[in-house]
Amino acid sequence: MSAEAPIIIIGTGLSGYSLAREIRKQNKDVRLLMITADDGFSYSKPMLSTGFTKGKAADELAQGAPETMSKQLDIEVRTHARVTGIDTEAHELSVGGERLGYSKLVLAWGADVIRLPMEGNGQEHVFSINDLMDYRAFRKALEGSRKVAIMGAGLIGCEFANDLRNGGYEVDVIAPSDAVMPGLLPPVAASAMQDGLTEAGVRFHLETVVNRIDRAGDGVALSLANGETLSADLVISAVGLRPRVELAENAGLDTNRGVRVNRALETSAPDVYALGDCAEVDGHVLLYVLPLMACARALAKTLLGERTEVRYGAMPVMVKTPACPVAVCPPPAAEQGEWQEERDGNSVRSLYLDTEGNTLGFAVTGDYAVEKQTLARAVPPLHL
Ligand SMILES: Cc1cc2nc3c(=O)[nH]c(=O)nc-3n(C[C@H](O)[C@H](O)[C@H](O)COP(=O)(O)OP(=O)(O)OC[C@H]3O[C@@H](n4cnc5c(N)ncnc54)[C@H](O)[C@@H]3O)c2cc1C
Repeated sequence: MSAEAPIIIIGTGLSGYSLAREIRKQNKDVRLLMITADDGFSYSKPMLSTGFTKGKAADELAQGAPETMSKQLDIEVRTHARVTGIDTEAHELSVGGERLGYSKLVLAWGADVIRLPMEGNGQEHVFSINDLMDYRAFRKALEGSRKVAIMGAGLIGCEFANDLRNGGYEVDVIAPSDAVMPGLLPPVAASAMQDGLTEAGVRFHLETVVNRIDRAGDGVALSLANGETLSADLVISAVGLRPRVELAENAGLDTNRGVRVNRALETSAPDVYALGDCAEVDGHVLLYVLPLMACARALAKTLLGERTEVRYGAMPVMVKTPACPVAVCPPPAAEQGEWQEERDGNSVRSLYLDTEGNTLGFAVTGDYAVEKQTLARAVPPLHL
């Protein structure tokens, strides 16, 4: 490894660019090289599920071309370059046949969408949207379409359902759970959200799954396990994400659900760090923006010589469903308590209270969603 070797960041998503920004706030000189398999455009991924609501085409959601980012942050950005291997002993990585030396390496390579194995010949009508390039392809395919089926009623499925309704599309949502956003929302809040979306025209098919997707005319027919058949022009698959761990595993790094790091974002190999959707930080896989921003701030300091552990505050997630706005701050998994929920129309205040009445988590919907800041101050930070 040469003494000149740069800090290399793999990935130009929110994690990669946030980290580069945090580093530049403190140091203008250190060499930074960013390598990405995609086109390197900077964009805010949460905005992808708001295109119609905000009246923006895919290209209008891009915030900066890689050349602009390169100039702005004084970094080198290599686009359409997929890292294929890491040699932690030699402090080198491979991009195809090329080997590049690093002084420190940051894995910010995100998560893969889960694609369910599916019977039928209509697979080319199925889209997963996990980056701007996916979204561009989806919006192009959507031209001339009218009807979209969404597999999955989690945060991403619900947000796209609301956004596509705002764009004037017919929307069917199919999911095996008996409520929307299972695991994130308690029952009454989930029911209010589902009612809000239903009033906006979303059709839900819960407690069932899609068994087959077959071509039918210019679109597809979806056969559901409950015997129903739905027609759609396009299908969005929003059934979950899995942190990318394969390259890390091949390089001998410790992995579990994600690439395992401690609170200083250090992997099991010297000078290799991870943050964002690919990382499991002290046992937590948190596929959200606030945790990755906290990690970027801490990691920038560590990379510049001041080893810093990340501290998470309370991190409410805003669900971008204008038909029924929701803010949720799930209680830490290990904490004992009970949900107490009160409902007024589609406005719900759900508090997760311990035996002493302390609020450990919350979900607020509709008119109560404005209480999120006050409630966020009341809940304890994630123990990390
Ligand atoms: C539609 C949608 C809405 C969302 N809404 C919210 C929200 O409201 N609030 C919230 O907190 N979170 C939300 N999220 C989640 C949040 O956007 C993500 O947690 C965050 O953007 C992840 O950023 P990342 O940089 O870790 O990963 P990514 O953005 O996935 O970036 C990964 C990068 O790594 C690159 N890469 C991967 N493999 C390689 C390789 N082998 N070689 C080189 N480069 C590689 C990719 O090309 C990419 O540049 C949403 C997500 C989606 C999909």
